[in-house]
Amino acid sequence: MTFYPELVAVNSEIADTENPHKLLFCCLGSGSKGNATLVKYADTTVMIDCGFTYKHTIAQLEAFDIDPQSLDAVLVTHEHSDHIKGVRTLSRKLNIPVYLTHGTARSDKIKGAPELQYLVPDVALRIKDIEIIPVTVPHDAHEPCQFLLRAQGRQLGVVTDLGSISGHVQHMFDGCDALVLEANHDVQMLRTGPYPPSLKHRVESDWGHLSNEQAVAFLDALPTLPSRLVLAHISEKNNCLNVVKNTFQRFESRIPTVVYACQNKGFDWLEV
Ligand SMILES: [Zn+2]
Ligand SMILES: [Zn+2]
Repeated sequence: MTFYPELVAVNSEIADTENPHKLLFCCLGSGSKGNATLVKYADTTVMIDCGFTYKHTIAQLEAFDIDPQSLDAVLVTHEHSDHIKGVRTLSRKLNIPVYLTHGTARSDKIKGAPELQYLVPDVALRIKDIEIIPVTVPHDAHEPCQFLLRAQGRQLGVVTDLGSISGHVQHMFDGCDALVLEANHDVQMLRTGPYPPSLKHRVESDWGHLSNEQAVAFLDALPTLPSRLVLAHISEKNNCLNVVKNTFQRFESRIPTVVYACQNKGFDWLEV
């Protein structure tokens, strides 16, 4: 897969995707137009969210060398369409179970999926080789969660939609070896940007999305920084790559790998 060079890792690395004993992750695309993250360990591959059409998802899976039939589960964070758009069709066509909370399952967009498995927030479950903890987050959906994933003593945190950093989020995502963290908007760009006032208010509220500065504050409050950091769910209208890079530059001397996720291309495989 070819990435736009300006969107790839600051300190680039090549993940050993052939080694089954590595916990790996990559992303098919990230932002307000759609999100999907893959996590792989040994014989297990799970997808977190599927916010793209079935056709686009299959094309992206093939670009990342993943056989769509090998997916073991789709984990859904919440029912906003940039996370759920392709879930039902993917699940139906490939017969993949969908893991989600009762609140998320009430959405019309999920009805008709062949197999639903219910997540209990903050209670761990295992899908084959990967342990998964759905973590309650403040976001304006019905029972939303984000995820911690563990295998072989390594821990990945994926936290892409939250309006504020609760004590619970700060506690649960401490100690991650790799972290995918939302850096949704620059506050000034949002306030002066094209969104209608009600949407601006929603995004900036405690139940909307994290600004660059809120993401920085979250990292600053972590006792231990991750060794891989991906800034994700970057708004194309209310943020820009140069602003994000300038904001997070200060972590580049302390975090070996910093990656900026792209709406169209996501990011390439990384080891946790
Ligand atoms: Zn959302
Ligand atoms: Zn979203």
